[in-house]
Amino acid sequence: MNGLTTTASLIYLVCAFCYVIGVHLMRSPKTAKSGNRLSFVGMILAVIMILIQLITDGKVNVTAWIVLIVGLLLGILYGFLRAKRVQMTDVPQLVSLFNAVGGGAAAVIGIFDYLTASGHLSLILSIPVFLDVLIGGITFSGSLIATGKLSGKISGKPVHIPAGPFINIIVILAILVSAFLMIGQSDNYWYLILALAASLIFGLLMALPIGGADMPVVVSLLNAFTGLAVAFAGFVIDNQVLIIAGALVGAAGTILTLQMADAMNRSVANILAGGFGTGEGESSSAGDDAANAKVVSTSADDIGLQLAYAHNVMVVPGYGLAAAQAQHEVAELAKLLTDHGINVDYAIHPVAGRMPGHMNVLLADVNVPYDQLKQLDEANSMFGNTDVSLVIGANDVTNPLARQSGNSISGMPILDVDKSKSVVVIKRSMSTGYAGVANPLFSLPQTKMFFADAKKGLQDIIASTKEYIDQ
Ligand code: NDP
Repeated sequence: MNGLTTTASLIYLVCAFCYVIGVHLMRSPKTAKSGNRLSFVGMILAVIMILIQLITDGKVNVTAWIVLIVGLLLGILYGFLRAKRVQMTDVPQLVSLFNAVGGGAAAVIGIFDYLTASGHLSLILSIPVFLDVLIGGITFSGSLIATGKLSGKISGKPVHIPAGPFINIIVILAILVSAFLMIGQSDNYWYLILALAASLIFGLLMALPIGGADMPVVVSLLNAFTGLAVAFAGFVIDNQVLIIAGALVGAAGTILTLQMADAMNRSVANILAGGFGTGEGESSSAGDDAANAKVVSTSADDIGLQLAYAHNVMVVPGYGLAAAQAQHEVAELAKLLTDHGINVDYAIHPVAGRMPGHMNVLLADVNVPYDQLKQLDEANSMFGNTDVSLVIGANDVTNPLARQSGNSISGMPILDVDKSKSVVVIKRSMSTGYAGVANPLFSLPQTKMFFADAKKGLQDIIASTKEYIDQ
């Protein structure tokens, strides 16, 4: 081991330290920003070290340097501008797009190594090369579909492919055959093309039929796949920092996937098999009844009066709160009420919004005290004693139809908002949430609908609450 290799290994160790501590800090909204910065420092260090290694190696020709620098600059510019300009509501699809890019880049590394090895790929190295192409390809196409679904460019509903199970079997067979052919034989490009095509089709077949409320699980599974693909790319090009970073993302993504599946009361295998929660046979008459039922609407003035005389208020935030960027208003209303001696808590559903932890991030942004955030089980134990549940832009996560069978959210644990003494729902219309299921909560006797944009509606409620509190 020469001096530079030793230095590189030490720097990569520092990078690994930054990633591990960074991820640890991201566990709490209070320290998440520092965690992000630390991981960023680790990434920059790794890129600089790799560039130094390439310069001293002297094997990279002028054309390759031009490609490398132009690619690097374009990537930095695009990533910086997109991340700077992205709306909070578009973050989930951006993350999914980054997953696709990560998976695609890893697959390209595998493809490049296979092509340049021209018959000299060792058996040991051909295994990560194959896995890199396979997992990278699946992640690339699967994440692009997930990006389309999250952004609304592709229907969020399950897309059923005719003869899907049959095509699945053919694709799995193609993957097995290509694995057998590619591993240990690096001189036939047709094997590579077969592996790549099968993995891309598999990614499409995996993501298209997922819909309804199951998307969060698939998004985090694809995130785990990106990590794995990157780790295999690290083995392929013998780069420790890629192996470490990839393994970390793979492990974190796997844990998140299991947690999300658990939160949805699903098994990952079931979701991927597509038989559970995809809305197949969705003929819920309860859903139709809910869509047709009469609802009672209310005004900001009535809500202000109700809140001013309540003892316990539970705020139930959902995607609409994020879409309206109404977190400042909700925090202001909660402060107004707590200053007046009213207990205010927030019921946080693990899949509320469009990305894991979405509501936590949103509320941390406006410094909502962490002890007011009640997770699903704790919140559910409190609804019986809640005077007013203020549902703001949440829909699927409160839908009592989840307790019945035969619809796309069946079995998903929900926030038992309907058990509180009264419910106020702020949303703009009677339209359904992400899963596309009508919500009978809206027509229950204790529920009143306030049809408004969450931001404007909350501003009006704050104004009227102030009047009643000041009286
Ligand atoms: P939903 O998508 O079920 O409902 C959101 C509601 O917000 C809509 O019914 C909409 O009604 C309302 N809304 C939208 N914009 C506004 C606005 N400006 N002001 C007021 N209301 C607004 O959200 P939930 O959070 O309840 O549930 C999340 C769903 O997303 C679940 O099905 C989950 O599985 C899925 N999902 C979650 C992911 C995650 O990682 N968290 C990832 C992908 C999907 P209206 O148009 O009438 O205003």
